[in-house]
Amino acid sequence: MKTFDHITYETPAEHVARIVLNRVQTRNSQDTHFLYELNDAFDIAAQDDHIKVIVLAANGPHFSSGHDLRERNGVEALRNHKTVGTWCGFACAGAEAQMSREKELYLGLSERWRNIPKPTIAAVQGRCIMGGLMLIWPCDIIIASEDAQFVDHAVSFGVGGVEYFAHPWEMGARKAKEFLFTGEWMSAAEAHRLGMINHVVPLDQLQEAALAMAKKIATKPLFALKLAKESVNAMEDVQGRTNAMQTSFALHQLAHTHNLKLFNMLMDPSGLPPETARTIGLNPDQKR
Ligand code: ZN
Repeated sequence: MKTFDHITYETPAEHVARIVLNRVQTRNSQDTHFLYELNDAFDIAAQDDHIKVIVLAANGPHFSSGHDLRERNGVEALRNHKTVGTWCGFACAGAEAQMSREKELYLGLSERWRNIPKPTIAAVQGRCIMGGLMLIWPCDIIIASEDAQFVDHAVSFGVGGVEYFAHPWEMGARKAKEFLFTGEWMSAAEAHRLGMINHVVPLDQLQEAALAMAKKIATKPLFALKLAKESVNAMEDVQGRTNAMQTSFALHQLAHTHNLKLFNMLMDPSGLPPETARTIGLNPDQKR
């Protein structure tokens, strides 16, 4: 069995795989290595004919703090992994490298996981920030603990939203606009009311609830599960999900290029939380 640095892989019940984010010291922040390890774990579960259902969980108080903004050697890190898409040019000048990187690592991987032909269940506790949404939204079912909170404050730092722009599909167009425009936290109760998550449970029952759901689904024939999933996904895609997300991704790249021209970085630094800005060597007092 493959071993990971930031992920654990278990088979806690018959036909069930459980992938756990295990980079607790950074609240499961996602750098290149982390994302490829997660992808490798999904691949193991997807390609194992004995596995019918995949649970995605996280160790620590928070599900994920999002993309690791401290990563400075992203091009080198990509060279150390076999890419899964067909894009290249990760070290090119101008906007090309950034678009290639995000197409491979962010939109590409999230979309890849969304299309795994087996039911996937995310178990979410604590904070799920921006890139964290790109791990749970591709899952078929989301179970959250009562303390779970969700946020995308990309607009504050000059970008329209995260690279996997599923917001309108997850919470409806009107609420998606409020979520993006205000950048405020959404509670588990509100996410449940909107249909973004399936169930809310007490924190100490979260893992048990996700496993119980996985076991229930795993009693069904896998081929029928695959067909049910493909049918629902096809409905979203025929409604324009894929094309709309490609458009959002292109606009996201425009925002990065705009910020590069104005601030010499991908984001408007004045929108970052001061402690985050300092961590990555920026002056949080720099104004727009
Ligand atoms: Zn981006």
